[in-house]
Amino acid sequence: MANMKTLKLIIVILVVFLMMSCQEENYKTSFKETLSINTSLREHTKEFKKGVVKVKENIYVAIGYGLANSILIVGNEGIVIVDVMESGEAAKEVLAEFRKITKKPLKAVIYTHNHADHVFGGTGMIGDDTVDVYSQALTPYYLDRVVNVTRPITELRGFRMFGVYLDDDAMVNCGIGPMLNIKPGAQLGAIRPTITFTDSLATTIQGIDFELYHAPGETNDQLFVWLPTEKVLLAGDNIYKTFPNLYTIRGTVYRDPKQWVQSLDKMRTLNIEYLIPSHTRPIIGAEKIYKTLTIYRDGIQYVYDQTIRFMNKGLTPMEIVEKVHLPQNLQNEPYLQEFYGKVSWSVRSIFDGNLGFFDGNPSTLQPLPPKEKAEKMIALTGGFNQLREQAETAFSNKEYQWALELTDYLMRANPTDKKSLNLRYNCLVKLGEAESNPNSRHYYLTRAKEVKGFKITSIVEPDLRTVHSIPLAAIFDNLSVNLIPSKCGDRQLKVNFNFTDTHEKWSVQLRNSIAETQNYLIDDPDITVTIKSTVWKELLAKKRGGFSTFLMGDISVEPGISDFKEFMSYFEE
Ligand SMILES: [Zn+2]
Repeated sequence: MANMKTLKLIIVILVVFLMMSCQEENYKTSFKETLSINTSLREHTKEFKKGVVKVKENIYVAIGYGLANSILIVGNEGIVIVDVMESGEAAKEVLAEFRKITKKPLKAVIYTHNHADHVFGGTGMIGDDTVDVYSQALTPYYLDRVVNVTRPITELRGFRMFGVYLDDDAMVNCGIGPMLNIKPGAQLGAIRPTITFTDSLATTIQGIDFELYHAPGETNDQLFVWLPTEKVLLAGDNIYKTFPNLYTIRGTVYRDPKQWVQSLDKMRTLNIEYLIPSHTRPIIGAEKIYKTLTIYRDGIQYVYDQTIRFMNKGLTPMEIVEKVHLPQNLQNEPYLQEFYGKVSWSVRSIFDGNLGFFDGNPSTLQPLPPKEKAEKMIALTGGFNQLREQAETAFSNKEYQWALELTDYLMRANPTDKKSLNLRYNCLVKLGEAESNPNSRHYYLTRAKEVKGFKITSIVEPDLRTVHSIPLAAIFDNLSVNLIPSKCGDRQLKVNFNFTDTHEKWSVQLRNSIAETQNYLIDDPDITVTIKSTVWKELLAKKRGGFSTFLMGDISVEPGISDFKEFMSYFEE
């Protein structure tokens, strides 16, 4: 009997272990066929040779450990780190390398901007130490936006774009780094900035003079760090060795090329001898740096100016895309190759940033709904099978984009048609294989596998420390965009929140299928919730269950918990 029990126990352990290891690997998808790789994209991988590069006696940059670089500056009694990687795992690997150089304690961290690949290794890099964390004043706002409001969609699109779900055979590099170093269960933790500034900040840290300048470009909160004595410039993401990402296909607020050019011009006024970007390798030598900065800003200005010029003539975005290409001398520049940003995407973004979605053509003002248009196109070609045959012919003629566009109509009319699905898959694989731009390669290939039923799973979530650090204002801001009108209808409800730890007071009023959130209490509430802010944040982040929270007495609700459950049922999970 004892043996039988032991055997059963071993089997259970084995099954659990197998399930766990399957879960680990199942988040990636592999291809049966051997994918071809664009030659110039393959060549570009050498930019990311892994290692710590010594730039000066006291300044080092870690390249190739994740998507971004991390920069070490060694001061009198302590160190400063600029940008902390995308995950705790990546940060710890970099820190271990830095620790081979110096054992001096970490005194300060500088974020060049809010993007995940520069901040989410925060808890991994900083640990429990209390250090000064510097950023531009807008960084906390954008951090909250990414963590809260737009996270579901930007994470999904971002992970497609970075090839997070593709296996090693399909991946080449990410254009600005070897890969996004995030795996299931990754430690993601951004420590909030403690010292911020608006335009510029001059300070001395550990005996080294630092000048931080607001430099909007790739992001609105971008900064660059100038070390005047060392003649070293840390450029953040306003320059890296590929055409700039004036638009990112994961989705972004408008990136103003005018401001980007101005920020590069600000750098050009400095006598820089060492330029260390937060992606790709350092540039050394004043003349080379000035020339590279000039070429980079000229590339951006050209695309901006010519887009606006044609926009003012009444051309639509796609008509401008046909007209605007870099002039021949810029096309050959190593820093303007389209391994990350693309001129064509930039043109469309500049148009959108200036005139919005309407291209000016009256037929696009109120187009037919997609399904109706598909049905009409199918009727026009003589039926579903005829259109599919035309799409197949286009594919055989290597007109992959046209064939893909035709499958849009087929999918809308019959989303489960096997032959259409196969054709769409083949189009996406062909388009992906041909790309020298890794963002589009990854996006095409990931979507190809999704066509074949590959389900994307969310593999990461912020750690508890990050969840706790999100301000309640950002939490309530996020609540309203998760309201489901079909569930709440015209229900009117007033809910007050008393937070016992921070003594903050918030209210939510449901009416007209909206949720008005205010940071004060309202009269005659239907429901009053008394809770710690940390518990509330954990509940929303699903770090704890509602039922156990109630049982533990960590939440109290007047008149009763069932009213609160009803209220919460009106929101997306
Ligand atoms: Zn970056």
